[in-house]
Amino acid sequence: MKPAKVVILGAGYGGVVTAIRLQKLIRSGEMTITLVNKHDYHYMTTHLHMPAAGTDHHENARVAIRDLIDERKIQFVKSTVQQILPTDKKVVLTDDTLSYDYLVVGLGSETETFGIPGLREHAMSIHSINSVRFIRQHTQYMFAKYKMNPQHKEYLTFVVGGAGFTGTEFVGELADRIPVLCRTYDVDPALVQIINVEASPTALPPGLPNDLVEYGMEVMRRKGVQYKLSTAIQACEADGVRLSDGQFIRAGTIIWSGGVRGNALLQQAGFDVQRGRVKVDDYLRSWQYPDVFITGDCSIVMSPEGTPYPANAQIAVQQGYNTARNLLYTLRGKPLRPFAYDYKGTVASLGRGEAVGTLKVKKVKGKFAALIKKMIDARYLFLIGGIPLIWKKMIFKQKMSN
Ligand code: FAD
Repeated sequence: MKPAKVVILGAGYGGVVTAIRLQKLIRSGEMTITLVNKHDYHYMTTHLHMPAAGTDHHENARVAIRDLIDERKIQFVKSTVQQILPTDKKVVLTDDTLSYDYLVVGLGSETETFGIPGLREHAMSIHSINSVRFIRQHTQYMFAKYKMNPQHKEYLTFVVGGAGFTGTEFVGELADRIPVLCRTYDVDPALVQIINVEASPTALPPGLPNDLVEYGMEVMRRKGVQYKLSTAIQACEADGVRLSDGQFIRAGTIIWSGGVRGNALLQQAGFDVQRGRVKVDDYLRSWQYPDVFITGDCSIVMSPEGTPYPANAQIAVQQGYNTARNLLYTLRGKPLRPFAYDYKGTVASLGRGEAVGTLKVKKVKGKFAALIKKMIDARYLFLIGGIPLIWKKMIFKQKMSN
């Protein structure tokens, strides 16, 4: 029998774990595996808030895909997916078209702007290595620009829209970075403002117990972060944001971290989507096209209570494991295993040496939580690249030059 053609789109958490598990488990001649990604590296989005703020080098947030895969078993194609044609079982890339027997879609998410005027044009978002390099450079540029135009104090105002996971982690790092930038550019720290705007009445990742939210906000306030809660950004302009309370905040930097939606390619391909994400069956397959597995931010998995699980790296990794196994079981004619999400907890960084979160039901905060966060990062590196990757990215890591 001819080997089945498996194509994996996206080398994020879901895609890369599917690929790594498959290369471990397949038997010779069972399948051919092609992994397609628009960059030749895998990046850890959970780490991006640091290079975005400039507190860590972006090299520590990415790993060359060729260091993760066994190229005798997986063919890596660096290209951008343009179109998925599920009825023809084909995928159109920038410079090629691939056919498949089984497809795994792990193309991640896109920024959700909720139709807020001007956001797409004027706000930056933290979603890739390129985006965080840009934000870091822009932040430094604002300090330099202020020194040339000291009448423009708004160059030193940073507005971050959204105080969930990404917004909180970024704001914590930025607050740590500001004193360094003030020293470098001879700026009075009292002139710098970090304003975190959030439409819901509380900050920090949803679902955290109230006492941890209060703790986290107190840590942030001590670092100089100002909150505007129960306040929505209604419009974004080149020089600031208009809020639902009528205020206009003039700012040199606007970061949007208010939401994501699934990759637009799925909707364009005719999949039934909700905010760009596809509701999958118990085995993470599309209901419309059972030869298409969908992982990570592109998928919606329902909890036993009937609500969708939040999209995060933890679930994407577990989906990668499940998808690899079910692909093999499909080929081997074995009954598939339903996906069961094992929620291990959530820990959000609040900047250097501070974090809050829960491990299952146990609350953690402060230095201990920050240590746990590091251990979670290390565990993931171990999973995809073993001890050598932990050494490279956490011990002998790339240092910032300024
Ligand atoms: P991704 O990891 O986003 O990977 C998608 C891949 O597809 C990327 O490699 C991308 O380059 C590639 N791709 C996209 N489009 C194309 C195309 N057209 N052609 C080819 N390749 C393409 N979750 C947590 O659990 N804990 C956290 O602490 C946490 N922190 C976060 C911080 C930030 C700043 C952000 C943005 C997210 C955070 N999340 C966190 C959420 C988490 O990162 C996502 O849920 C997770 O990355 C989803 O994994 P994925 O495999 O679906 O997609």
